[in-house]
This record gives sequence, structure tokens and C-alpha cells, in this order.
Amino acid sequence: MTGASAIGDGIVQIAVPMSHNPLGSTLVYAMESPSGLILVDAGWDDAEGWEGLTSGLESIGHSVSDVEGVVLTHFHPDHTGLCGRVREASGAWIAMHEADHTMFEKMSSGHNREWMDDQLANLARAGAPEADRIAFEKAAQGGPPAGPESAPDRVLTDDETIALTGRDLRVVFTPGHTPGHACFYLEDADVMFTGDHVLQKTTPHVGNFVYPLEERDALAEFMESLRRVQKMDVTRGLGAHGVPITDVSGRTAELLDHHEERLDDLYRSFEGNEFTVWQVAAIMKWYRPWADISPIGKGMALSEAAAHLRHLVARGQIAQVPGTEPARFALN
Ligand SMILES: [Zn+2]
Ligand SMILES: [Zn+2]
Repeated sequence: MTGASAIGDGIVQIAVPMSHNPLGSTLVYAMESPSGLILVDAGWDDAEGWEGLTSGLESIGHSVSDVEGVVLTHFHPDHTGLCGRVREASGAWIAMHEADHTMFEKMSSGHNREWMDDQLANLARAGAPEADRIAFEKAAQGGPPAGPESAPDRVLTDDETIALTGRDLRVVFTPGHTPGHACFYLEDADVMFTGDHVLQKTTPHVGNFVYPLEERDALAEFMESLRRVQKMDVTRGLGAHGVPITDVSGRTAELLDHHEERLDDLYRSFEGNEFTVWQVAAIMKWYRPWADISPIGKGMALSEAAAHLRHLVARGQIAQVPGTEPARFALN
């Protein structure tokens, strides 16, 4: 899916390619505002992505210099990557929820030694075998985080509105996929830009990254945000990847069921067992057998496993076995 297309309600969808990633592209949305265009997200930062975004804007009779502002759903580089270049070309402002500003700064400070040491310490605390830690370190070298020049210069708060031409775009704070994820609701058209919070075909990643030290219960946040969107009873959803969502409430219900099932499966698997976080990741069901998952994929799976485990601990169903290191968990 590449190129730009008018998809009704004054919305233009531009598929910004991301050829290295199985998701294929980030869908950027453009709408007219009193002083130009507002973009929802910006796409992955490389030559192909930039060409996709700029030629997409040109095909609808605009230029990247017309962009007045970029609202970001969250800090991940497939969403924030190009916004610095957009600002350079247009003087646009870049806005994101405050809770993701910090995450963005961490990501931008990059793949330096400190970041890697954190990751490796985290893997060790989770109980990852040495071979997997070495494989992760090798695979994670040289990833391209967004440059600091992309740092947002405006903070979005829940329920604030962004002025479009003759209508408003409302910020709906939906933490979970990231701590500061936001959706944007186009009230006059009953359309929600769902970022990575709700996707039609993909189950959004929800992770805890430094378990067992992290207090944050990412899965609880995510499910609460799903319920929030579900209650809004929105008809049409436009996610950042894949096909449009035809029934937003229905899809949020499916995602909630999916996580309840996974929590239930995980809880049952503890019967008669003690597991480290790494072992939890290894026994959960993924899109392919654990042994065939790449080192980076295992890191993602580990954080997703930690999020489920963290939530079972919060529910009082699972507890850490006292005095274990790496921490082991058992039925409470
Ligand atoms: Zn994301
Ligand atoms: Zn994404």
C-alpha cells in the first residue's frame, strides 16, 4: 500500500513506506487547517519514507511546506521519524502527549552504551540465558532511532482540540501501547485516528520494559483505554497500519477478550510451576515457535510477557517467590 488517496470526510491518507518492517507502511493522515495542513503522525525516517510522504502530499496538490502542525499518536519511530524533516521544511509545530515526551527523549538519546547496558541488565533480571543476551546485543546494534531534531515542541493534553478548517480534532488520551499514546477524534465525521491503540488486523504490542522493577501496569492502562474508546461508540477507525476499522467498539471488545484469554492461559500455566519472566515469555503463544523468533522479537515478546505477568500480580493471582534472583513467580 503506497501513495495518497482521498478517503472521504476531507481526509487524505498517505502510506509512508517502511520496507524493512512487516507492517509495510505507516498510514499518515492529512486534513486542511486554517493555515495549511495538519498531519496525524509522520512515518519512518529514511529516503524512501520521505519520498513517500512528500510525493503523497504533492499528489493532492500540496507541498510539505504547507504543513502547519504534526500531531503524534505516540513516540515510536515509525510515527515520529519524519516529523523533524517536516518541521525543517515547513516550520510546523510537533505535538505529542507529555507522557511520551520522556520516552521520546530516552529513545533519541539512542542506541548508546547506556541504553544497551540497561537492556542487557533487564534481560538478565528477567532470567534470559547468556546466549540470548549476546544474540540480543548483536541484533540491536545500529537501530535508527529518530534524531533529537524531531523532538516535539508542543504538549497535547487529554480532551484538548486542534483547529481544522471549520471543525475540530479532539485528543483522546489512550495510554497502554505507550505511556503517552493518544487517539484523535474527528467529531463532525465520527472518525477516530487510532494510531497503534486499535488496529483492525494486528494486536497492538503492550509491554513492560523493566519488570520486575517497574511499577507501571501497562496492560491495565491499555485495557482501560480500550474500554474508554469502546464507550465512545465510534463508528469508523483509521489506524496507523493496515485496513480501516469498520466497527471500533467491536474491535476493542475483541482486543479486550484476546488479553483476558491470554491472562487466563498464563494464570493456568502456573499450576504446579514457578517461572522467571523469560520462561513466561517462552511458554506464551506467539505468531511462531519461540525458538524461531529473532533476538529482537524475543525482546518484544519478553516485554509483552512481563506486561501480562505484571497485571496478574496486580490482580493478586501471581506473586514473586521471595528471595529468588532472577525473580521467579508462582501462584499466589
Ligand atoms: Zn507503536
Ligand atoms: Zn506503529
